[in-house]
Amino acid sequence: MNRKQVRRALERYRVTSGKGFRLADHDPDDIAEGIVNKHDSQALLTDGVTRLAELQELLYPNGRWALLCIFQAMDAAGKDGTIKHVMSGVNPQGVQVTSFKQPSSDELAHDFLWRVSRRLPERGNIGIFNRSHYEEVLVVRVHEDVLDAERLPPELTGKKIWEHRLTDIAGFERYLVRQGLVMLKFFLNISFEEQKRRFLERLNDPQKNWKFSASDIAERAHWEAYMNAYEEAIAATAAPHAPWYVVPANNKWFTRMVVVGAMVDALETLDLKPMEMQAPDRIRLDEARQRLIDEPD
Ligand code: ATP
Ligand code: MG
Repeated sequence: MNRKQVRRALERYRVTSGKGFRLADHDPDDIAEGIVNKHDSQALLTDGVTRLAELQELLYPNGRWALLCIFQAMDAAGKDGTIKHVMSGVNPQGVQVTSFKQPSSDELAHDFLWRVSRRLPERGNIGIFNRSHYEEVLVVRVHEDVLDAERLPPELTGKKIWEHRLTDIAGFERYLVRQGLVMLKFFLNISFEEQKRRFLERLNDPQKNWKFSASDIAERAHWEAYMNAYEEAIAATAAPHAPWYVVPANNKWFTRMVVVGAMVDALETLDLKPMEMQAPDRIRLDEARQRLIDEPD
């Protein structure tokens, strides 16, 4: 399988416009049959991880662009495992992973983008968001009491609040992209049935018990509301400069392959070249070399 085929597979999942977007059109079981061959998948993943590491080695010294990858999903969709596998080859010094949990009281005292802004990757770096500002139009939308805890003036919490938040998120992302941030947003699309299967596995296997939390079952009861919120969020914020990838997540090997493929594709599009020294810097290197050579023994 060549790069062109990987690109073709990626296009199936990339969403760059909200027009006509429906989550129901995306099958969590999809494995791009006919384009991708499961047999090749391990090699593709390994190649992708290696290529990503090479591209990071160009991104860092270039120091102008940054890459931000946002991961959103229902519980047990495989965010953690995907991040772990996909990033396994890169130099940890150039990557910052942030997991966004329930906001602290300090965070709640600010606007919702405050904590996100503080975690954006520096130029030359890769930032990974395990959950993100999108929680503000997902969990906060599904649970009214979570919005209450944000202590907004009541005048500002009317019916239009979600539409306003989505517009603000889209504007924030537009701004970041104009600042040299390359943005990829991944929704790991697991099915209701597959989530049940994975929860049972966590409950039945003592080695996996730690991954289970009782609140996961409570959230599962709101599945429909979450899917509606996801659909609206993706539709309102998908753009060519900030695409969403709706990644089928019922098969872990496939999820990982799509994610690494999308990251490699985005960095390759930047067409980064190894940095070459400009003449004045080269002269300085020559001088330094000479001084070392001339050092008395
Ligand atoms: P895992 O369960 O695999 O460890 P996780 O991302 O589910 O990973 P948890 O600690 O279980 O981590 O959950 C974090 C919780 O924080 C989620 O329920 C999420 O919805 C919630 N959360 C994140 N951001 C916000 C926010 N802005 N407002 C309210 N809740 C939030
Ligand atoms: Mg959880």
